[in-house]
Amino acid sequence: MSLPQATLAVFLGPNRDFEFRTVPCPAPGPGELLVAVSLATICGSDLHTVEGRRTEPAPSVLGHEAVGRVVAVGPDRDPLLLNRRVTWTLADSCGSCRPCRDWLLPQKCERLFKYGHAALSSGSGLNGCYASHVVLRAGTVVVPVPDSVSDRLAAPANCALATMVAATEPLAQGGETALIQGAGLLGIYGAVLLRELGWKRVLVTDPTPGRRVLAGRFGAEVFAPDELALSPSAVADAVIEVAGTAAVIPQGLRLLRPGGHYAFVGMVHPDTRLDLTGETVVRKCLTLRGTHNYSPRHLQAAVDFLAAHAAEHPWADLVADPLPLARLGEAMQLARSGRWARVGVAP
Ligand SMILES: [Zn+2]
Ligand SMILES: [Zn+2]
Repeated sequence: MSLPQATLAVFLGPNRDFEFRTVPCPAPGPGELLVAVSLATICGSDLHTVEGRRTEPAPSVLGHEAVGRVVAVGPDRDPLLLNRRVTWTLADSCGSCRPCRDWLLPQKCERLFKYGHAALSSGSGLNGCYASHVVLRAGTVVVPVPDSVSDRLAAPANCALATMVAATEPLAQGGETALIQGAGLLGIYGAVLLRELGWKRVLVTDPTPGRRVLAGRFGAEVFAPDELALSPSAVADAVIEVAGTAAVIPQGLRLLRPGGHYAFVGMVHPDTRLDLTGETVVRKCLTLRGTHNYSPRHLQAAVDFLAAHAAEHPWADLVADPLPLARLGEAMQLARSGRWARVGVAP
């Protein structure tokens, strides 16, 4: 088997240019897969890393939202995966520790490995998706992507969409009114998922007009946060925070009805101290639930969801025309501009 060369966009540290390196692709080891990346989209967490607001090892290859094609299958892995178009869980887990086996939280595995978050010196070094190739490890669940789901639709499935499938799972019985705080990609996916789950009204708040316009095209009723300030209290049966800031929590608590469900999803950084009393949680009989990443079943459900609804929504409006991998720095700038929910790079 002759293996191709891989091109890697190497992250050297915050606010530095990517360095492009060409290395030989390794033959996949036991249980591993070598995947040629077709499209990788830039998740907001990578923008934080590049700007130095969160710390990742360097040198490393960032990027975890992607779709690609299996080009080599290691021993002890299903040989029928060869040439399949796939997405994969953004984390590799062991399957045997307590979080994996007993708590059904493989994303909290004691030996967790996350693509796009590992040093170049770890394993094969092909650990991230801002590259022509990535090596998927033995504990990574792979989900085939049907041809009806384009690369642009599929690439964000293994981070943003699967996370929102996990966050909305407890709301699957449907309901009257939900409020989503934040109209980025997570908020838009959340709105579509809740509508499909039978929620009658999905309100979305965001301070940025352009993001509200986009969310409105996906069936959400959109508001600037202060437009809801004068609303009667307790309008929502459920609230989902995907804004990434604790500043939205007091409004969410005020608008949440007694017995309501508050999902925290976006606040994945330490600067999120809450303005919240225990008394509020007790007296309003609230459920607070955090969601971080997801289980393999949520990724399968995400791909199934896209396949079922590929024609129904203006999905293509979410992802900009891909830039070549060599222009990753420029793609990051475009992602930062907020013009698109996602910007992608293709090798
Ligand atoms: Zn992500
Ligand atoms: Zn484990």
